[in-house]
Amino acid sequence: MKRFLPFFLCLLLLSGCAALSGEAEPAQVQFFSMDTVMSIRVYDGGGEDAIQAARQEVERLDKLLSRTTTDSEISALNSHAGDGTLVSMEPEVIQLLAFAQSISQLLPGDFDITIAPVMDAWGFTTEEQHVPSDASLSAAMALVDSSLLTVDEEASAARLEQAGMEVDLGAVAKGFAASRAEAVLREHDVTSALVDLGGNITAIGGKLDGSPWQVAVKDPQNTSEALCVLSLSDQTASTSGGYERYFEQNGVIYHHIIDPKTGYPAQSGLLSVTVVSSNQMLADALSTALFVAGEEDALAFWRSRDDFELVLCTEDNRVIVTEGLEAGYRPAGEERGYTYEIARR
Ligand code: AMP
Ligand code: MG
Repeated sequence: MKRFLPFFLCLLLLSGCAALSGEAEPAQVQFFSMDTVMSIRVYDGGGEDAIQAARQEVERLDKLLSRTTTDSEISALNSHAGDGTLVSMEPEVIQLLAFAQSISQLLPGDFDITIAPVMDAWGFTTEEQHVPSDASLSAAMALVDSSLLTVDEEASAARLEQAGMEVDLGAVAKGFAASRAEAVLREHDVTSALVDLGGNITAIGGKLDGSPWQVAVKDPQNTSEALCVLSLSDQTASTSGGYERYFEQNGVIYHHIIDPKTGYPAQSGLLSVTVVSSNQMLADALSTALFVAGEEDALAFWRSRDDFELVLCTEDNRVIVTEGLEAGYRPAGEERGYTYEIARR
């Protein structure tokens, strides 16, 4: 329960913001999927039917993409690692694998969906988390190499080239699910909604009065409080941070975002990374990857592109907001010692 507390607090925080806006009561649902708490609120269009259809879509994708259920597409891929079989998969899963590969190529050493054996070595898929022995960590690290994941988009099939390799889509599945949930809601004539898939918050349209949604970014050191508030409309804010999942051993905190270069939880000087983009999958993948990359590389990558914005929270209590968010953001943690700065291109 403890590890899910931040998610409930996030929902409260979000509802606090929505409530402040004086919106009409939405149709809403809260549920558990993809190992996290999710909520969907719909303010117009197909209401309850829309919500149920979107929830079913998220649950369908969870079944397809989970590596802990034996009959998922990802489990089929993983179970054939190293035996030469090109595993036929749904085109949508192949697209997601190809997208994840492209992020690994853009940010080598920061992002790798073949990280699964290392996640297992730390016990992150179980309730028994622990620091792995050097031997088990190096055995797991020998299996992390996304260049040994072959994705054949034409054949709609994929293959892991080495026995023991496994794919873990934890860093991108929620973003993919968010894009599909949004599509389903729009098919039900929804133009005003908030979809929160475990910290990936998608604002569909704006509020009914046409103004943007006000979405809180959590303070990673005090998750019941806001770090800042963002104005979003037809955008997703995806946040990755060590606080989302962690354990403590001998007084040291170990979190779930792994640096593929070391096999240890990333220590990049960042406490959280929020990526704002109209592309949900990109926002999700980049929030994880740029958390590993650290401040300097994250800002350099931002300067090389024009399809996302960032909020970085550093260990020394600085909050760096990229200039595309400047007009619509509001600092909220000054009394907790945070200072705010705008990064320019
Ligand atoms: P997110 O919550 O989107 O930041 O994703 C974190 C999840 O992504 C972890 O729980 C792992 O399942 C997976 N993961 C951890 N480290 C990495 C990494 N460096 N590259 C890709 N996936 C990762
Ligand atoms: Mg992510």
